[in-house]
Amino acid sequence: MTDRKVRVRFAPSPTGPLHMGGVRTALYNYLFAKKHGGDFLLRIEDTDQTRFVPGAEEYIMKSLEWCGIKVDEGIREGGDFGPYKQSERKAIYQKYAAELIESNNAYYAFDTAEELDGYRKAAEEKKETFTYNPATRTNLKNSLALSVDEVKQRIDSGEPYVIRFRMPENDEVVMHDIIRGEVKVQTSTLDDKVLFKSDGLPTYHLANIVDDHLMEISHVIRGEEWLPSLPLHVLLYMALGWKDTMPEFAHLPLLLKPTGNGKLSKRDGDKLGFPVFPLFWKAPNGDTATGYREEGYFADAFVNLLALLGWNPGTEQEIFTMEDLISQFSLERVTKSGSKFDPKKAEWFNHQYMVQKSNADLAELFKPILAEKGLTTTDDIIQKVIGMIKERANFAKDFWEQSAFFFTAPESYDAKMVKKQWKENTPAIMADVKDIIANVKDFNAVNAKAEVVAYIEAKEIGFGAVMNALRLSVVGAGKGPDLFEIIEIVGQEETVKRIEKAIADIVK
Ligand code: GLU
Repeated sequence: MTDRKVRVRFAPSPTGPLHMGGVRTALYNYLFAKKHGGDFLLRIEDTDQTRFVPGAEEYIMKSLEWCGIKVDEGIREGGDFGPYKQSERKAIYQKYAAELIESNNAYYAFDTAEELDGYRKAAEEKKETFTYNPATRTNLKNSLALSVDEVKQRIDSGEPYVIRFRMPENDEVVMHDIIRGEVKVQTSTLDDKVLFKSDGLPTYHLANIVDDHLMEISHVIRGEEWLPSLPLHVLLYMALGWKDTMPEFAHLPLLLKPTGNGKLSKRDGDKLGFPVFPLFWKAPNGDTATGYREEGYFADAFVNLLALLGWNPGTEQEIFTMEDLISQFSLERVTKSGSKFDPKKAEWFNHQYMVQKSNADLAELFKPILAEKGLTTTDDIIQKVIGMIKERANFAKDFWEQSAFFFTAPESYDAKMVKKQWKENTPAIMADVKDIIANVKDFNAVNAKAEVVAYIEAKEIGFGAVMNALRLSVVGAGKGPDLFEIIEIVGQEETVKRIEKAIADIVK
């Protein structure tokens, strides 16, 4: 790496909600910047006004915020290199388009959309593809083929035109990608891309290069889908005389479907039941999509799982805080091949963060769920319950299922358990246990257990026979944390009631 100040940008187009692959691109940019003491810019690339979706810009910023990715320069933060929204930089691009024409690296083209369509169709009929390139351009309506006068006349009369890049003939572009190494492309395989549209706005290619240059971007870290554009970008840097300050490039691998076949899409998420967007999204047409946040993922778990989809630390470590990621991240350890997304592993990550969080923090997530059910109890009890069940939960939404019996008496009893554990003499034994529980002094888990165990020993009945039946009475099933811990929280009076109810309700 050169000793140039690291400045990277995340440059989304506001065409919809940010896919998790986009968040990963932002994250890798952020990690790289922070590792090298550099700046992370957010630039909104909205030159394609036909694809603009209201709300997308806000969504992108909120998503980054939720992930803890802090923007140093951007539309909200400001900065010395603004504006950071391309639609507000219109005037800047014209100058560079004119410069490219002047240096003969670009030209005016007057072909209408209908004409181009006609060429495409004619080529298709011959099983060929039409491209606007050195081989075809001299026969088309552009300033390379028409006389100077005619070009001037067409422009002066207000005829719409675009500006196209003049791809060099029979040349080789040699590029370097930090992740992929050297990449070589013959210019004969490339076409004369439009740089400036008839609506007076630049295309992505021109705006992107001009902005990266003016914003002094040192490294371009972006998705693999932009690799085919790299030769044009490199040629543009050279044509504009910016070769020496050209950024370094790193193209990130794709995020793949769980099967590994193709790019991870919203459809995969819908089919397999996982989100592909960070936050809930409502499209202007009313369509909605769920987000990781709404599905109960912790932001730090989401960041952690994303970081490992395409990068590995070279060790067995899997749990990383943002600080860990910043200190360990390197582009050299980003994989070349696509990363398969595993929804089960994503849940596993959330679980790891769940068990690390404090019971007090998790209680805050459980309170609204309890309130919705009309249940109120003390913070102390909620925290104790959380402490007992968090090992069994991946998300806060699992809390209720794992702990309902702490708050309400069972309404039914697990049939299999009843069959196995509720014997003919069980009601009589449970009647004894009920009396024992009712008479425990200083009621708590330890004292209740001591009394019940003493009873079992005195009567010489099986330990399991009593404990399983007692669990069935209190919990309604054979699962759950330590039985006497449950009983302590449920309380003496309520435990007695539940045993009575079980004796009355469980019929074999
Ligand atoms: N606006 C492009 C996008 O939406 C940016 C690509 C790049 O980073 O160069 O992904």
